[in-house]
Amino acid sequence: MRERRGQVGHETDNPYYEGRKYPEPTVCERCGLLYRDGRWQHPGSSPPKDAHRALCPACRRELDRYPGGILHLSGSYLSEKKEEIINLVRNQEEEANKQRPLQRILWIKEGKGEVEIATTTPHLAMRLGRAVHSAHKGDLEIQTLRDEYMVRLFWRRDLKGG
Ligand SMILES: [Zn+2]
Repeated sequence: MRERRGQVGHETDNPYYEGRKYPEPTVCERCGLLYRDGRWQHPGSSPPKDAHRALCPACRRELDRYPGGILHLSGSYLSEKKEEIINLVRNQEEEANKQRPLQRILWIKEGKGEVEIATTTPHLAMRLGRAVHSAHKGDLEIQTLRDEYMVRLFWRRDLKGG
């Protein structure tokens, strides 16, 4: 998908900007993350009663289907190892999410001979792309677009003689 969006403005005005400040404490009314000590984190036992309510940047992206990163996987090798590669990607997401709860996979779209993985943050897309590359070799190309808050990664590996 080659979707074009308007200018999202400066990083600080960008509603998806993960470093944006919120009043403390704030609870995400969708996923329950707690904003405290300057960052979104997994809530402890129960959120404070007097907390502000907002949508965290990851939920905004989920609702708007606006990714911070997209990883494209392709090549004949992918068809053979698809399940294994998607498991690797899921495990990486789980690990990343423990420390950085705003890092989530938005969708995994499986097409003919290719897979598209969209993430909430550029960091997670980079992490996933590098993990696939390091475990399965192949070629990894990273594209950052100046006027988009997004990174695109293209990973490809073909089987020899095919
Ligand atoms: Zn949320």
